[in-house]
Amino acid sequence: TKHIAILTSGGDAPGMNACIRAIVIAADRLGYQISGYLRGYNGLLDDQRITLTCERMHNLLQQGGTILHSARCKAFTTEQGLKKAADNLTKSNVDTLFVIGGDGSFRGAHALGQIWEGQIIGLPGTIDNDVAGTDATIGYYTAIETAVSSIDKVRDTADAFDRVFMVEVMGRHAGFLALSAALASASDYVILPERFSNEADTLTQICTQIQQRQAKRGPVSYVIVLAENVWPGGINDLCVRLASQSNMEVKPVILGHVQRGGSPVSQDRLLAVQLGTYAVTLVETSTSGVMVGTYEDKAVTVPLPQTWEDAKPLPDDAVTTMMTLMNERYR
Ligand code: ATP
Repeated sequence: TKHIAILTSGGDAPGMNACIRAIVIAADRLGYQISGYLRGYNGLLDDQRITLTCERMHNLLQQGGTILHSARCKAFTTEQGLKKAADNLTKSNVDTLFVIGGDGSFRGAHALGQIWEGQIIGLPGTIDNDVAGTDATIGYYTAIETAVSSIDKVRDTADAFDRVFMVEVMGRHAGFLALSAALASASDYVILPERFSNEADTLTQICTQIQQRQAKRGPVSYVIVLAENVWPGGINDLCVRLASQSNMEVKPVILGHVQRGGSPVSQDRLLAVQLGTYAVTLVETSTSGVMVGTYEDKAVTVPLPQTWEDAKPLPDDAVTTMMTLMNERYR
């Protein structure tokens, strides 16, 4: 019988547990032996492994986090580390390794695939949605929901006090989360890595909009969504400079790690079930070194290098809509 192993790696994301559960249930049906390595690639190096049973999957679908724990692992990126991982997999007779994580985790999986002969299958789990080859990643939808509900609350207090707020959302170096959160919360302005030109123009544009609105309506609130890692001096520098240029107080709000937590929303649960189940159907095939993802709602496979080499552009229509909504006429 086949021995499959699962690990979760890199930034944790809501729905990782749902994905583990889907894999375990599909694999159990086929009578496979199922192991879980703890703390990402660290568990692979230390051979920290637990047996995953269907009983353990009870009530797991809705839980945030990951029961396998996640981590980054420096040692795994070295030649010795990769060799040790390959040896451990071989010693434990693992046939297939499922890696749930982001593009960094897939780079690691690909490197491992160069020296280990077993089957490697990646599943996209990250709130950033910055993985090419799949329409969405597990955890992305929940993170949007968390960001939107937080921005709604910021809007309430911003409105009550006619204040300017700067809300920083996650996304690493991609603007998917910031764009979706800004659109769904009717934020006044969004600063995206893919659309950022320079600091002076951005400050001037925001100030002009605030002033136009004040001229029309008197005191107003203004909520700006800032994607992390875009503003060279960070959010506090941006707030100070905007405050000085606009003559308004500007309050920073960093949503931070709350965006990584929480019970997954239905879309993430369904994606996790779809991809986890599909991934297990590949075990008896010669397909390896791929990530499973969705394209137009259908499960597909893409070679691992494509997940980080290909560009994943922001959806044009969403960008256009957001730019339109940032126009003073619609505020
Ligand atoms: P997220 O983007 O959500 O944080 P991620 O999977 O991209 O998730 P990373 O920290 O980039 O997170 O990568 C996770 C782990 O993958 C790293 O700690 C490292 O162990 C391994 N890894 C990344 N790149 C490589 C590489 N080129 N070779 C070997 N291992 C790698």
